[in-house]
Amino acid sequence: MLDIQAIRADFPILTQTVNGKPLVYFDNAATSQKPQVVIDAISNYYSTINANIHRGVHALSQLATDAYEVSRQTIQKHINAKHAYEVLFTSGTTHGINLVASGFGKFVKAGDEVMVSAMEHHSNIVPWQMLCERTGANLTVIPMNDKGELIMEGFEKLLSEKTKIVAVNHISNSLGTINPVEFIIQKAHAVGAAVLIDGAQAAPHLKFDVQALDCDFYAFSGHKTCGPTGTGILYGKEEWLNKLPPYQGGGEMIKEVTFAKTTYADLPHKFEAGTPHIAGGIVLGTAIDYLNSVGFDAIQAYEQELLEYGTQKLSEIDGLTLIGTAAHKTSVVSFNLQGIHPYDVGAIVDKMGIAVRTGHHCTQPVMDAFCIPGTVRASFAFYNTKEEIDALVTAVLKAQRMLS
Ligand code: PMP
Repeated sequence: MLDIQAIRADFPILTQTVNGKPLVYFDNAATSQKPQVVIDAISNYYSTINANIHRGVHALSQLATDAYEVSRQTIQKHINAKHAYEVLFTSGTTHGINLVASGFGKFVKAGDEVMVSAMEHHSNIVPWQMLCERTGANLTVIPMNDKGELIMEGFEKLLSEKTKIVAVNHISNSLGTINPVEFIIQKAHAVGAAVLIDGAQAAPHLKFDVQALDCDFYAFSGHKTCGPTGTGILYGKEEWLNKLPPYQGGGEMIKEVTFAKTTYADLPHKFEAGTPHIAGGIVLGTAIDYLNSVGFDAIQAYEQELLEYGTQKLSEIDGLTLIGTAAHKTSVVSFNLQGIHPYDVGAIVDKMGIAVRTGHHCTQPVMDAFCIPGTVRASFAFYNTKEEIDALVTAVLKAQRMLS
């Protein structure tokens, strides 16, 4: 059982008022709030050990390098990667996916297929479309049913020896669906395809084990997992990272440079050109430690309670349609009010101090599939409460009265 009041006390931003009302932050799928230990760790880094890493003999540089590499090990352990050098620091999920898609042209030729799903974030569609444009490969799309669940028979039908990579999200950001990634990985591997999992929405909510999943790549964002913005992780299996060409050229990623030829550094540095977000990388480790101290089992159980409560209370509102009613969901409730644009609902509930997201949530194909312009999305985190959900219900009812 979580002590929610103690947890809330870890997040200084939650004590604020917005528009004269206590802040209710339900935009966690966009970015999470940060606990005080994370905020302090950023300040502490710049106050005590700030220096460039990996290339200094001086004491501060070594301290910063050690802290950066300790964080990499923290994350390695957290996701159960076999080696720390399979854990690459990135600026976020988008960066991780682009890193893979950019180099993957080496393994794809005209007529091959690159597979995504009907419920991907644009950042797990566009880099693959760009790959297809460069190579003449075709994009195929795993279909989805009207509950917002991927159709596995459709997936298996699409899968063939032409499929070179399957890129699919672990959890959908606009629907909350938890996808059967174990099954997808197993079937994709059976035809020789690699698999990239977009874990942007999974990493904040559940513990995953990249070796047990057997995925080839797993990308997530630090800022959604209580860490700083501009941070993220790309896990890649050693064999893939060795085969994949570097993403960016520059300092840090080389072994030797002459005008005739450059040789690349060993993993992970081959994919970490230039000065990284050092403070961010270090503090991402702090954020992961914090989440583990709360405990992912407890987080998941509590967020499931919030999901059930929120789903129940919101669906009691006349004229409210839930978008995304999958059997396996995380704590995202997307909805629309009949005859009312989602933006207008968002603007009114904001006046009552409640932060929700409105729009297509960077998943335009999902909105097209449901024939809607967008949704209102309330996404709950482990520091939210049922009382806050009650406040949302009151605000939505008020918006409905005002806008009908
Ligand atoms: N994939 C999913 C499922 C997401 O929810 C997001 C963020 N909304 C991204 C990818 C992109 O993450 P970032 O903007 O942190 O790179």
